[in-house]
Amino acid sequence: MPDKKQLKIAIVGAGPGGLATWIHFRKLSDVEISIFDGARELREIGAGIGLNENTWRHLQLLGVAEKIDQFTNRGDPTKIDVENRNGVTGKLISRRYQSTDPNIPARSRIERYKLQNALLSAVPREQIRLSKKLVDLKETAAGVTLVFKDETTAGPFDLVIGADGIRSVVRSYAFPEHRLSYTDKVAYRILIPQENVAHIPDIPQGSCFWHTKNTHVYTNPLDNGLFEIATRAPIPDPDGTKVSWGTEVPKEDVVGHYTEYCETIRKILDVPNKWLEFALFGGPRLHSVVHNGRIALIGDASHPLHGAFGAGAAFAFEDAYVLAQAVGEAQQKGTSVASAIQLYDEIRAPHYEALYHVLDDYADIAKEVEAVNHGKDDNEFVESIVQKGLAGNTQWIYKYDVTKVWRERLEEAIKGKNGLDSSIAPVLNAIATAA
Ligand SMILES: Cc1cc2nc3c(=O)[nH]c(=O)nc-3n(C[C@H](O)[C@H](O)[C@H](O)COP(=O)(O)OP(=O)(O)OC[C@H]3O[C@@H](n4cnc5c(N)ncnc54)[C@H](O)[C@@H]3O)c2cc1C
Repeated sequence: MPDKKQLKIAIVGAGPGGLATWIHFRKLSDVEISIFDGARELREIGAGIGLNENTWRHLQLLGVAEKIDQFTNRGDPTKIDVENRNGVTGKLISRRYQSTDPNIPARSRIERYKLQNALLSAVPREQIRLSKKLVDLKETAAGVTLVFKDETTAGPFDLVIGADGIRSVVRSYAFPEHRLSYTDKVAYRILIPQENVAHIPDIPQGSCFWHTKNTHVYTNPLDNGLFEIATRAPIPDPDGTKVSWGTEVPKEDVVGHYTEYCETIRKILDVPNKWLEFALFGGPRLHSVVHNGRIALIGDASHPLHGAFGAGAAFAFEDAYVLAQAVGEAQQKGTSVASAIQLYDEIRAPHYEALYHVLDDYADIAKEVEAVNHGKDDNEFVESIVQKGLAGNTQWIYKYDVTKVWRERLEEAIKGKNGLDSSIAPVLNAIATAA
């Protein structure tokens, strides 16, 4: 860090990742942070969002959990938390009741905009520069300059943080060889009043995944009298032109994918007249998400996981936290931004690698069950795949405590591991205590 001069930082994107980055970086001294978003106004499209244990803990760390608390419920052991069912027969495959563990956060699945609003409550609106759609970046010795669609520029910056989501322009600039591809799947999502489905027999009381061989439907009563329906369906795209994100589609486009489902689901899906379609894109894992010592990617920009694990917001928060801690540590030590973002990369890469492994395992399970059940009944296939998938414990994803990971890294450094100079131990100790 050059002589305690103000470090100029640009955040591109004011989604959950960009906003959390702003909140974490704001705690550092000697930084000047600018945040840009291409949208004319910040508004979330979509439906509900699940706040898992790690998401919730992080919202507390960000100081905005109380903004969401009112929409969450304390666990009630008599109430169903989540079920998995065979979508064709309705047969129950697994059921979990709500937890009353005081250490586990309130059960919460809320409308997406409420998460956005909670984060926005901690970021003064005048800080966010809207209608600034990034189209290019330019690097010079002085730093990185952002070029926007309106032909204005900003910069140069010492550090640019790409929080610009799955179609990240920052990623395309830093890693031009990385390509997104359509997964041949779409998600259809909608929120409707609970009263519109209340008459349908066998409506589950908690979250429920209804599975068939090629599709699934998720139903969930939300916090405020709304009912959430989220589905996935395979839609091939031989022309390679499929693009949609929150695009309104008529009922007729949706219901045809789910005719084999049990009556409860067919009746539920018949209620909304319009749906929102999201074509799901993914891309290969980037082994490093930093570029040239002054650009770092976070959240969906870094790892386009297309909603797998239902925890993408938490992953973005965790990225933001580690990046801010690493830059803060570099400021304390008087080392470079480049070393800070390198450290960020080293801490986060193993976590993402483990997540991608889980996805590979799911694919392997599907192949294995397909081999065993070849020619057998589809119902058996579905039930064994769900049971095997549930047997693989993925709770570590939601139990992950990024502050602990960071503290442990500091402790290791203090013990003289990682080849770091032990003379910095007092500084690191101070940071560890603050963290
Ligand atoms: C179907 C589906 C279901 C999901 N369910 C869940 C769930 O239950 N729980 C959960 O935690 N996560 C869920 N996710 C994942 C979650 O939505 C994302 O991981 C999370 O929103 C990522 O946040 P982000 O800030 O990285 O990106 P985004 O939320 O995409 O935000 C990116 C921001 O950058 C801006 N931007 C984009 N391009 C530019 C540009 N060129 N210039 C300037 N600004 C730009 C956008 O306007 C936007 O504000 C789901 C995702 C999908 C697809």
